[in-house]
Amino acid sequence: MASYTAPVRDTAFVINELLGIEAHGALPGFSELSPELIETLVGEAGKFAAEVVAPLNHSGDQAGCVRDAEGSVTTPAGCRAAMDAFRAAGWGALSLPAAFGGQGLPHLLGFVVEEFLCSANQAFAMYPGLTNGAINALLVAASPELQRVYVPKMVSGAWLGTMNLTEPHCGTDLGLIRTKAVPQADGTYAITGTKIFISAGEHDLSENIVHLVLAKTPDAPAGSKGISLFVVPKFLPDGDGNPGARNAASCGALEHKMGIHGNATCVMNYDGATGWLVGEENRGLAAMFVMMNAARLGGGIQGLGQAEVAYQNGAAYARERRQGRALTGPAEPGEAADPLIVQPDVRRMLMEAKAFTEGMRALGLWVGLLVDLAEKESDEAKRAAASDLVGLLPPVVKGYGTDKGFDTAVAMQQIWGGHGYIVENGMEQFVRDARIAQIYEGANGVQAMDLVGRKLPAGGGRAIQAFFALVDGECAGVDAALAPVAEKLGKACGELKVATMWFMQNAMANPDNAGAGAYAYMHMTGIVALGLMWLRMAKVAQAALASGTGDAAFYQAKLVTARFFAERAMPQVGALRRQIEGGAEAMMALPAEAFGVA
Ligand SMILES: Cc1cc2nc3c(=O)[nH]c(=O)nc-3n(C[C@H](O)[C@H](O)[C@H](O)COP(=O)(O)OP(=O)(O)OC[C@H]3O[C@@H](n4cnc5c(N)ncnc54)[C@H](O)[C@@H]3O)c2cc1C
Repeated sequence: MASYTAPVRDTAFVINELLGIEAHGALPGFSELSPELIETLVGEAGKFAAEVVAPLNHSGDQAGCVRDAEGSVTTPAGCRAAMDAFRAAGWGALSLPAAFGGQGLPHLLGFVVEEFLCSANQAFAMYPGLTNGAINALLVAASPELQRVYVPKMVSGAWLGTMNLTEPHCGTDLGLIRTKAVPQADGTYAITGTKIFISAGEHDLSENIVHLVLAKTPDAPAGSKGISLFVVPKFLPDGDGNPGARNAASCGALEHKMGIHGNATCVMNYDGATGWLVGEENRGLAAMFVMMNAARLGGGIQGLGQAEVAYQNGAAYARERRQGRALTGPAEPGEAADPLIVQPDVRRMLMEAKAFTEGMRALGLWVGLLVDLAEKESDEAKRAAASDLVGLLPPVVKGYGTDKGFDTAVAMQQIWGGHGYIVENGMEQFVRDARIAQIYEGANGVQAMDLVGRKLPAGGGRAIQAFFALVDGECAGVDAALAPVAEKLGKACGELKVATMWFMQNAMANPDNAGAGAYAYMHMTGIVALGLMWLRMAKVAQAALASGTGDAAFYQAKLVTARFFAERAMPQVGALRRQIEGGAEAMMALPAEAFGVA
């Protein structure tokens, strides 16, 4: 049976030593965060995830959610108690605004909790995870009155949230939605339509469920310019703001799906349900993008979470399972066979997993810090710089993070051999659960197009140029010991610059050139971003070793892993660049009829 221990030491390393959170003490919410307090907070969050949530992962996967004839949904045994404990401990409110009952701590601490929960039980983690996205959308776009009624209840976790975009005939192309919102005399709207695949659409974990629903008013312009956003609660708030009459929003069915069985994925029927407009009519997509941006960073964290728990179990198995002998002769001659971990090919998988999980944690938390800086930094130039990077990086965190998260789960299952394919061992669940994050919150191909089509040209390419400058600055003047790592990172960044230039020269003439190369570009950027993290971590590790740390093994492992990432991952960037330069011609040449049965 798989197990989970939160990576507390590594997380505290990233926050305290790599990001140097103490240096940001002037920012609101940061002042009290001493390294000791960070360690305590991270340790307690890890304990909660490992002791309360993780034990429900396998049983929840096996039992799934159950819908009764009236449309009520029961979550797997233990989830209600775990959610009560989650609420009581305030883990969901950690980085939410104090004005609405949150603790006002940095976003990056919210990311830590998300990672730990996702490793422990992704299906469970999605209930509060979606609520955070919904809160963000309300904070940005809703009227003060709507905020007053809904946000405090959602911050406390008493009410949980959902996001209702997808309909049977439209997922990526939301301009096609058919759900209608008809204005009523009292200022509300009557919402009618069917949404599918709605995560946490119905359940027994909160006293109310707040659906954020995309719909079109009768005179709305066609396409995505005519989409509005509505709050549609399961129970209409009464005069005191408590759950009152039942709204005409119901769960018509639960989807039977590959993974995350403990999360209720619902068909939601709206039959003239009462809804309130969030923001302005026809501006719903902009508000929803706020929610999507948070959800996309959360998606990347899900990839990390599944990779981390799979890696822990892959590593444990590789140390215990004995098969064959080391290529260099018996490593443990007294035993009938050596452990798997002596095999270079098993090491390949473990090192790739270690390099990805630790690198991705650093990247995710750095972006978390950038979100805080973009919001709270008083120096305008620094705030703008952070804001540019927060604009640029979410598709990379989501697309690269979830692709590698899934790949890592598969590789760790491989280490378990046939035993990894057996349900009771838990490794196959990580693969199934990791898969969805590549699809939802915008399929990864769509993330890639967002990166190349929108993020790169935005502001005349300011954000990507700033990213290049950061990488170049980091590579400059490193000492001899880290020069091989810096040199490979600098070269990879050079390849990324060339690919960026290639798009500028070739995408206008033929937009398919951008579409054909976007996926490779997203992965190139992901590798360079992780490379940046590894060079920074190597510098911190080198300094710690030079100053005579008592934890030498931890820092030495960082140096070795940085070297491994530079040697094994960085060279992929050149091959990806050459893919991009192949252009769209061969990819798009065949007629549609040429595909399928030959
Ligand atoms: C378990 C689960 C939970 C979900 N939770 C929610 C939820 O809570 N709320 C919600 O609203 N939705 C949710 N979804 C829906 C999910 O977001 C959509 O399935 C996803 O956005 C893709 O839409 P689609 O399935 O209609 O695929 P389509 O839009 O039909 O796309 C199919 C494939 O075509 C490609 N593609 C499509 N358009 C483009 C493009 N422009 N450029 C490049 N490639 C493209 C992509 O590879 C994509 O995977 C969930 C889905 C699942 C399975």
